[in-house]
Amino acid sequence: MSLIVQKYGGSSVADATSVRRVARRIVETKRAGNDVVVVVSAMGDTTDELLDLATEVSPNPPGRELDMLLTAGERISMAVLAMAIHDLGEEGRSYTGSQAGLITDSAHGAARIIDVTPGRIRHAIAEGAIPIVAGFQGVSYESKDITTLGRGGSDTTAVALAAALGADVCEIYTDVDGVFSADPRVVPAARQVPLIAHEEMLELAAAGAKVLHLRCVEYARRSEIPIHVRSSFSDRQGTWVVDLTQPLPDIVPIAGGTPVEQPIIAGVAHDLNDCKITVVGVPDRPGEAALIFTAVADAGVNVDMIVQNVSVEETGLTDVTFTCPVASRQVALDALTAAQELVGYRDLRSDDGIAKISLVGAGMRSHPGVSATFFKALADAGINISMITTSEIRISVVTSKDVAEDAVRAVHTAFGLDADGEAVVYAGTGR
Ligand code: ADP
Ligand code: ASP
Ligand code: MG
Repeated sequence: MSLIVQKYGGSSVADATSVRRVARRIVETKRAGNDVVVVVSAMGDTTDELLDLATEVSPNPPGRELDMLLTAGERISMAVLAMAIHDLGEEGRSYTGSQAGLITDSAHGAARIIDVTPGRIRHAIAEGAIPIVAGFQGVSYESKDITTLGRGGSDTTAVALAAALGADVCEIYTDVDGVFSADPRVVPAARQVPLIAHEEMLELAAAGAKVLHLRCVEYARRSEIPIHVRSSFSDRQGTWVVDLTQPLPDIVPIAGGTPVEQPIIAGVAHDLNDCKITVVGVPDRPGEAALIFTAVADAGVNVDMIVQNVSVEETGLTDVTFTCPVASRQVALDALTAAQELVGYRDLRSDDGIAKISLVGAGMRSHPGVSATFFKALADAGINISMITTSEIRISVVTSKDVAEDAVRAVHTAFGLDADGEAVVYAGTGR
């Protein structure tokens, strides 16, 4: 008998029919002799619709109230899913994040989990019930207010619960068959990967492959919980996210054990949610970058790529360009405007029409020529690059948004990743 945590994403529970289909799957897992704990997301695009509503009401809603509003989405799906399970003759019991013991800090909209105390969930399992936990939410240990973990955070709820309960596996059910070498909505020839190492999945998630929430991968690596990403619309094997430096856990049904060598490239990711800010005419003297990025950090903005260019002419001025989430654009601009006198720059520019394209693969460490192939693929497709960064196992570039999908496809083809068949996208709007 195994303890299985199953997480169902929004597109898997988009309407009443889907809720009943998911309920059948849960009940089958239970009747096969397993203990099951379910984590569920809001139905369909509910979270986006609630966000739209909030912005219609108020341009800048308080974080506490926004979190209270958004958590309503998961409350709806957990209750209806529990009802559908009852109709099938099992006892589904719904729990909010707070009732399930998801304790967080007070950072509304981006709360971190600091403890998981799932006493009520254990109790429900012991009584033979199926606990259904609302994803993406918790309660602050300081203020006792309701918090959310950030967009896509139900994956992290699931892994955190799996870790706290000592589950054998955390299954993440979504609208595609697993993790692919690129977003199947953009690259129909994307190839499903049977196994992926934590480090590559972390880079893909950080680079915009939203199939898994970044923090859920970090959590799974730390707590050694195997993740199985798969479709709730099919019975196919999905993708296992595991530690490839260790022998695979027994639950992973891969013939031949841990593969000795992984492919050079794990995949191509794209991110359309960043913007680019340029601080123009910054005095070329020590301490300027520190002043700029302290102002931005103090405003709570996460900076991603940074480029500084010293003018070849002897103007004594440089330009500093960085990218950050488009949702933080105004906050970053306001913080920099307030710091203009201190920094002594001339002007600020910002651009929302950008995309980040990233190539990820642990094999990059030991294979020369990967960046040459990457840049040649973009050049051959006539795509202009405005920023470049690299890490040990990732190359990222900034392009304009309108060529992003062409760029992903060109790179995917250039690295020989195209599969013969077409990847299936079962549902979802891609929103
Ligand atoms: P859920 O609502 O189930 O959490 P998400 O929309 O958050 O689903 O994530 C699934 C989506 O992630 C897929 O529909 C797909 O468009 C997108 N995606 C992006 N990159 C990848 C990738 N490399 N592999 C699989 N899916 C990806
Ligand atoms: N419903 C939340 C969102 O749309 C959390 C999640 O689905 O993981 O971001
Ligand atoms: Mg998701």
